[in-house]
Amino acid sequence: MSSASASRLSVRWALLALALVAALALLGVASEVRFAGRRIGVSIEVAEQGGLVVLDSLPESPARRAGLRPGDRLLSLEGQPLHDTSDFVHVAERFRHGGGMRLEAAREGHAFETTLVPGMAVPWLDVVLGLLVVALYSALGLLAASRAAEDRRATLLALFSFAVAFELALPGHLTRDTLAALAVAVAFALVTGFQFGLELHLAASIPSPLPWLARHPAAVRAPYLFGLTLGAFAALAAILDGIGIARAAPVRAFADSLLTTWMLPFWAAAVTALIGWRVARHPEPRGRYQAALVLLGLLPWFGVVMWETARKLGAPIAIVPELVWQLFDLEWVVRKTFLYGALTSLLVLGFYTLVGAGGALFARQFDGGGASVWVVSTATLAMGLLFNPMRQRLEALIDRKMFPERKALRSRLVALAAELPVQGKLPRMGEHLTRELARVLGVGPVTLWIAAAPSGQLVELAASHRPTTDAERSALIAAEDPAIRRLLRDGRPSAAASLGDASPAMAERLAAAAAELAVPLVVQGRMIGLLLIGAKRDGSRFVAEELELLALLAHHVATVFENARLFDSATFEGLTGLFRRESILEILDREWNRAHRYDRPLAVAVADLDHFKSINDRHGHLNGDLVLQRVAAELTSLLRETDFVGRYGGEEFLIVLPETTLEGARSLAEKVRRRLEEVEIRLEGGAQARVTTSLGVASRSEVRADARSRGRALIAAADEALYAAKNAGRNRVEIAAAAR
Ligand code: GH3
Ligand code: MG
Ligand code: MG
Repeated sequence: MSSASASRLSVRWALLALALVAALALLGVASEVRFAGRRIGVSIEVAEQGGLVVLDSLPESPARRAGLRPGDRLLSLEGQPLHDTSDFVHVAERFRHGGGMRLEAAREGHAFETTLVPGMAVPWLDVVLGLLVVALYSALGLLAASRAAEDRRATLLALFSFAVAFELALPGHLTRDTLAALAVAVAFALVTGFQFGLELHLAASIPSPLPWLARHPAAVRAPYLFGLTLGAFAALAAILDGIGIARAAPVRAFADSLLTTWMLPFWAAAVTALIGWRVARHPEPRGRYQAALVLLGLLPWFGVVMWETARKLGAPIAIVPELVWQLFDLEWVVRKTFLYGALTSLLVLGFYTLVGAGGALFARQFDGGGASVWVVSTATLAMGLLFNPMRQRLEALIDRKMFPERKALRSRLVALAAELPVQGKLPRMGEHLTRELARVLGVGPVTLWIAAAPSGQLVELAASHRPTTDAERSALIAAEDPAIRRLLRDGRPSAAASLGDASPAMAERLAAAAAELAVPLVVQGRMIGLLLIGAKRDGSRFVAEELELLALLAHHVATVFENARLFDSATFEGLTGLFRRESILEILDREWNRAHRYDRPLAVAVADLDHFKSINDRHGHLNGDLVLQRVAAELTSLLRETDFVGRYGGEEFLIVLPETTLEGARSLAEKVRRRLEEVEIRLEGGAQARVTTSLGVASRSEVRADARSRGRALIAAADEALYAAKNAGRNRVEIAAAAR
């Protein structure tokens, strides 16, 4: 079944449960109204000398109006003698609103007769509050049911919420020994037993399922079995008592006290212990943190339950503040600085202290015991729902009021990260990054090193305060340097001073770059570059949040640079950085098509270094490479941005010149020839070298080419001219024969 249809199914079940709870709640309200009409407002107790004694009476109650006072003994009601409370209850169930009841009582040994007229105001506030709690639990149940398809814990939460809503909605004051009263007693016993299993199951799934349970799935059934057995026992006792089996009455009382008085503290202790164990043992810090917050929520409940148990008060309904865990979004707490953490802790602690204190206070004030549970439940739910919005407000407020510049910094860094990819080639991206980062952070020089293929040596790509020249570009540091290895291992920004301690070579380079901070750029465990950040201009130190932002930015920058580099290596040639042969031919074809369609000028030049073999022979192949690199750099600097140059062969270069006539191309070629002739190239080992170049030029308008041969005809013509230049003594420019 797809998860969408699974979730629709669980929502349908949840709506059914909701309808059931709503019907019960309506019945409950009706029973409250009926009960109020029969109340006389006394609490009574069996007296030592027999009969019933009035402990207390409520102001404005029918008992007060009939003249009853604490200490009066009740002898008979409507002619029925009263020996114990069940006699009283028995007669009281025949009370009718407004009808008079004949009561025989005694005060200080003197018997007297009075008339009771039952009926008190419906406690609407309590009724509405009760309905509200039922509604809140139902809403929580619906919410959880809608997520049940994604998260098993949500299914448990939905079931549990509906079980609580169901239990709270059960009508409270039904006439004893009726079928309805019996049904309610049975339902209560079974649902309470089921809740026991559910809540332990849920507790064992927070923050993640117990590994032990995953290995012993059958063990999940144990608490359900235990709870339902107790519930079934209480239900059976209630049925036997209900159908009039006299000996069942004490068994029912015992079963009820087991269920409501004794199971609850055991249950609270088990849940608290389970969560406490996760706090101590969960393998992930975030899991421990979540469990700790849930535990924090459980403690007041645990305290209240234990305290009430100690006072032998049965709390009929257990409440689960830990359900709130789902409504917390905890990630930010882990990530944020101390201030956020501390404020949130205060918020949470303050809240639970209030709930705990409130619960305890209520429990003392009202002997019923139920009130404290209700307060805890309502407050927990309300707080759970309010917590996230409150936290967000607080965080925004802190950001705005206390760190406006930090918020601005964050948005400027985000903007910078977005601008990078549109800069095009790597050096442009590097320049933009270093310059903007220096400005945004308010720091001294920012320098970017990147790893050069294939050795992984770090070379400078760009710096914020000066253009990168060849001298700086050759400022290398090896990938095996201990400081670089440490940066790679740590993967986060490090202080330059501590890196310098690890390696003298690094110390020297960092000092030259005036670096205070080194931020590694790592992609898939490879160091692809290093950002060096200078000291802050206002003399302040980097704070944790800035380091965190830098680390995030570095992650993004590393990915962008790696992508750009992959593109570059497919397009550009490794030694000279010029277009590869395939790329420049593609460009030529594209330009030829364009020129052909719009009948625009297009020219090419082919350059070949003279007697290059002898440079290799005299100075070695590596020095030959150096010469090629320098020639490439000179060519690039001479050309316009709209021109293209590629390495066509070993020491042959193809220059594509859009919108250029033959004459324009010839004069450019001449410029190239003259410049290269002048350049003195420093070689390894101190020697100097010079090269001369021969060039052949051809242009589209002078070359007759059919549509299929396209740019190739141009190259062939230029090649022919080059051959002529070589033959004519080298260091010359020749134009294609057809044009001569
Ligand atoms: P000329 O062009 O003036 O006739 O003489 P040449 O010596 O330059 O002759 P040619 O162009 O035919 O020779 C190409 C030489 O260039 C062959 C090879 O030794 C050298 N060469 C080609 N590719 C490379 C390279 O990538 N690195 C180095 N160092 N040398 C290369
Ligand atoms: Mg050649
Ligand atoms: Mg040559």
